[in-house]
Amino acid sequence: MNLNSWGNYPIIKNTVFDYTDDLFNILPLPSIPHGNGRSYGDSALNTNIIHTIKHNCFLSFNKENGVLHCESGVLLSEILEIFVPKGWFLSVTPGTKFITVGGAIASDVHGKNHHIAGSFSNTVVSFRLCLPNGKIVTCSHKNNQDFFKATCGGMGLTGIILDTKIKLQPIKSSSINQITIKTRNLKETFEAFEKYKNYTYSVAWIDCMSKGENIGKCLLMVGEHADDGHLTYKNETKFSIPFNFPSWTLNQFSVKLFNMLYYSTDITQKKISLDSFFYPLDAIRHWNRIYGKNGLTQYQFVLPKEKSYEGLQKILGKIASTGKGSFLAVLKLFGKGNNNYLSFPTEGYTLALDFKIEPNIFNFFDELDQIVLEYGGRFYLAKDCRIPRKIFEQGYPQIETFRAFRKAHQLNDTLQSLQSKRVGI
Ligand SMILES: Cc1cc2nc3c(=O)[nH]c(=O)nc-3n(C[C@H](O)[C@H](O)[C@H](O)COP(=O)(O)OP(=O)(O)OC[C@H]3O[C@@H](n4cnc5c(N)ncnc54)[C@H](O)[C@@H]3O)c2cc1C
Repeated sequence: MNLNSWGNYPIIKNTVFDYTDDLFNILPLPSIPHGNGRSYGDSALNTNIIHTIKHNCFLSFNKENGVLHCESGVLLSEILEIFVPKGWFLSVTPGTKFITVGGAIASDVHGKNHHIAGSFSNTVVSFRLCLPNGKIVTCSHKNNQDFFKATCGGMGLTGIILDTKIKLQPIKSSSINQITIKTRNLKETFEAFEKYKNYTYSVAWIDCMSKGENIGKCLLMVGEHADDGHLTYKNETKFSIPFNFPSWTLNQFSVKLFNMLYYSTDITQKKISLDSFFYPLDAIRHWNRIYGKNGLTQYQFVLPKEKSYEGLQKILGKIASTGKGSFLAVLKLFGKGNNNYLSFPTEGYTLALDFKIEPNIFNFFDELDQIVLEYGGRFYLAKDCRIPRKIFEQGYPQIETFRAFRKAHQLNDTLQSLQSKRVGI
């Protein structure tokens, strides 16, 4: 078996070890934990991989306070199947449910409610971490805080998360009341985010092909949990992409899709399922194949709030002028960041764009990097496959604390990914 990431780039030949209790006695080092491979780039890749996916038992649930105890290989989709019908939902969830709980902690993932609820580590009560020397450390916001702050967002570089207690939120419905707002440019998009900022969930799809006065035109979707008492949940996979598409189909496909949605939508209010609201792309299995056999990457950054408008105007203008952007440009509002050493979110706007891997694309990213840095931004490791060390470290003021932590616990030679070697963490 060879494990890849979601972007199918880079591809590296690897030996896969299933996690077992005595694994570190036999494991060739260095190695890196790997959940469900939904990170886009090389954060879960190396020649030796510790696969956690079979480590997926539910251990207990406290229905008084919503605390779920489970092993780290449990998928968010598995939690939803069991707990939505019982009236519980994830407190923070990313745009796919096919990730492990361990991967959610290691990337300290964010969802459409970051401005209200923060990132995944906010919902973590505690976890047990196995170090390469076999020692097990129990970490929480109060105990072994340095391990907690290094591991949440630490991209698997501090040990293997074995199991965790996370807090679910109670819900009274398996539907979301969604309002969709259409804007004509970035100014209107920012005004709409501001106007609807008290909604728990918000996300905008930006049309990257729009130019001139229409730069930043979007569909903003905001939502709240409904309270109709209906709690049913079923997996909504609609179809599967059977093979890699020829890459020329991509832009035609994506632009048509966005325009179809944009022009058929007025301000609308409707009740939709949790899956349609949170995980629309999960309905299409293997959608990454639309990007062709060379794979894809995602370029995701966050800009400080006060500089976001100007910075995004410039970046979107540059992307539109090249015609390379896909329809999948997703804009979200982040609330305040946390204290973890490498967690990505900081207060401001984050834009995530998918690009197919093609000649010169990395040169283009180098140019975009300069704009992101000029406006004080930073990049998300979970999406990255190419960021140069010098660019990466400028965005993370606590990087030296993380490096010192790894050194102090002799983790540098034992846990490594292709990414950690490249960015020097
Ligand atoms: C369609 C799509 C939408 C997405 N939307 C969002 C989003 O909205 N917000 C967001 O934040 N992210 C998003 N992501 C990224 C995704 O949530 C993260 O990359 C997540 O970490 C993937 O989890 P995984 O289980 O697949 O882990 P992997 O991709 O296998 O690994 C990711 C990282 O976690 C580490 N890791 C995994 N398991 C463990 C463990 N048990 N112990 C220690 N380290 C471990 C790995 O070493 C690696 O560094 C999206 C990805 C996709 C494909």
